[in-house]
Amino acid sequence: MTRTALIVVDVQYDFLPHGSLAIPDGDRILSPINKLLDVEEGWDWTIVVASQDYHPPGHISFASTHDAQPFTSRIVTDVHGRTYEQMMWPDHCIACHKCLEAYSAFEGYLLAPESTTSSDATHDRPVDPPVSSRETELARYLSLNRIQKVVVVGLALDYCVQSTALSSLEAGFPTAVFLPGTAGTSVEGETTAISAVKEKGGVVVIEKELRKWIQ
Ligand SMILES: [Zn+2]
Repeated sequence: MTRTALIVVDVQYDFLPHGSLAIPDGDRILSPINKLLDVEEGWDWTIVVASQDYHPPGHISFASTHDAQPFTSRIVTDVHGRTYEQMMWPDHCIACHKCLEAYSAFEGYLLAPESTTSSDATHDRPVDPPVSSRETELARYLSLNRIQKVVVVGLALDYCVQSTALSSLEAGFPTAVFLPGTAGTSVEGETTAISAVKEKGGVVVIEKELRKWIQ
């Protein structure tokens, strides 16, 4: 098997059924991902990395911070003076809450979760560190491990999974999204994400194709 990294994106209680930002049917991905982690299934990953979404209370992306309706979008200005359009999310993945925890099976794979925490946590409207710094860090970690191919699973396909796959491609890694191991917020969202990944040269595969792809 080629030196391959498996990246498990944001599989956390808040994104699973009954969570505050649940992906419908999100738990359908758990068994396929667990299978990928089962050596008896014949998988042999060079590294497995899990990521975690994390926000301090009062985060700039929370509807409650702005008295806005969840799932609408707003122009916001962050503490650095950057102005951009932001989707208003329900409060989710807040530090120190159980909902932040990664689904326990994948906890052992978390890559320095504190590195994704906000350095602006003390501000009124905390922001995330620039996405680019998080992603560069991951790319560096993959290179250090002489990774040749990247497989991405997790939640949600049309948000963090898509952006992880796209930045992996951008960093030069041949990248596959394993379809049974991911779920989107809607069918349209899934379709758009799949096209976006394919358009940038990524592949979207089911199990048989994945085994072939990583040989
Ligand atoms: Zn979030």
